[in-house]
Amino acid sequence: MRFIEKTGDGFIPIPLLFINRKTVQVIDKPKEFCGVIGVYGHPEAAEMAYLGLYSLQHRGQEGAGIVSSNGKNVFSHVGQGLVNDVFASPGTITKLKGSLAIGHNRYSTTGSNAKENVQPILVNTKDGLVALGHNGNLVNSKTIRERLQNEGAIFQTTTDSEVFVHLIARSKEKDIGGRVKEAMQQVKGAYSLVIMTSDTLIAARDPNGFRPLALGKFEDGFMVASETCAMDLVGVEYIRDVEPGELLVITKNGLRSQTTLEKKKCAHCIFEYIYFSRPDSRIFGEYVDKTRRKLGIRLAEEHPADADIVISVPDSSNTAALGYSIQSGIPFELGLIRNHYIGRTFIQPQQVIRHFNVKVKFNPIGAIFKGKRVVVVEDSIVRGTTLKVLTQLIRKAGAKEVHIRVSSPPIQFPCYYGMDFPTKDELIASSMSVEEIRQHLNVDSLGYLSVDGLLHAVNKKGKGFCSACFDGNYPVVTETSFTKEQYENSCQGAP
Ligand code: SF4
Repeated sequence: MRFIEKTGDGFIPIPLLFINRKTVQVIDKPKEFCGVIGVYGHPEAAEMAYLGLYSLQHRGQEGAGIVSSNGKNVFSHVGQGLVNDVFASPGTITKLKGSLAIGHNRYSTTGSNAKENVQPILVNTKDGLVALGHNGNLVNSKTIRERLQNEGAIFQTTTDSEVFVHLIARSKEKDIGGRVKEAMQQVKGAYSLVIMTSDTLIAARDPNGFRPLALGKFEDGFMVASETCAMDLVGVEYIRDVEPGELLVITKNGLRSQTTLEKKKCAHCIFEYIYFSRPDSRIFGEYVDKTRRKLGIRLAEEHPADADIVISVPDSSNTAALGYSIQSGIPFELGLIRNHYIGRTFIQPQQVIRHFNVKVKFNPIGAIFKGKRVVVVEDSIVRGTTLKVLTQLIRKAGAKEVHIRVSSPPIQFPCYYGMDFPTKDELIASSMSVEEIRQHLNVDSLGYLSVDGLLHAVNKKGKGFCSACFDGNYPVVTETSFTKEQYENSCQGAP
């Protein structure tokens, strides 16, 4: 088998062409991490992967890539930017031949936004070519990386994901499944993986199941994807989730499942339901839309308001706002119009326009607000900067009262499992009480969903989820925030 073609690089998003002018972040939200997809047994596997990545664009917008194989040769195309832009050149996709492909959308939670960090990572090992796409964050990658470097390993990227390929390449196990299993036994943290050789597709998930990973079936093959919305687009039937700690090996002989690691306490990322995943996806066994409505219902029970209308901060708060409206009986209105056509950052106009960075994203519909008492449902507050300005805009549009209701608890702690929150100091709720935040936002009332309310809304027993960014109970201790002794102890197994 030989590596025939690697294309793609250096796509420069249009805003960066105006590098001399200031680009600013559009909105104050935690950042998405990554999306992965794998296709086995389809004559146009790369096309399927491309469409899947397109559906998973919300999970990462800094880079995208696909690696495919026709059993003899492996083809790769990766680049920086949105999926559509990376694969824009005519013929790019058709050059990615074969019935096996994996794809990745990247947002850099670890490692810089550099060209060499775009995935899938493709390496030539003694046992042949291996490509890998990773969603999540490893908490012991620094230690492993240092050890491997001390032994002479040369790393090509600054991502934590690369330790996987080094561990796989060094393994003495005889097949790829065994080599991946051995790698999984050494890493800790959050990972949903797609891995391929020239003839095998592998999907794997960490033993706590932090990040989602779904398995689907079509006529002659299988698809794995971060979210089921990727399967809906191409008519693939969702079968089940890849289980925490499970390793799936898909070859011409079919699908083989192995439980690679002792099952640990389930710790699905609850933020996937609150904000990250698409509402039309089914993750952790439930539709996101349905769960978000439950958050809104619970929020209305915990924090009722005397008001005339309920509005959402679109789009991620829409369904929670509907839930709030249903439970409270207060009519739901579309009060804010969101501009969908701007990227993550935009160019600040040379003439300073007050609150331009929020206005470019949201515009209030004036007639809706005149003389009204308004409940604004927001899914989360990170720094509070966007919400403060939005409140001013809503008041200026004529609202008599503004009541903020948040369908998650106050975010007080950083995430080590693949979500990019700002530092603890920048999280408004880590240094201010709810009343202080209310005053800071200058609103008439402010209510956050409680941690108990959140856990019980997603799951009647309130079990099986990570909620560390709200309560500080980290399911897997990291090497960066704890002493070595604590870390070593934690590695014996998550609580
Ligand atoms: Fe998700 Fe928060 Fe846990 Fe990170 S700390 S995995 S964002 S619930």
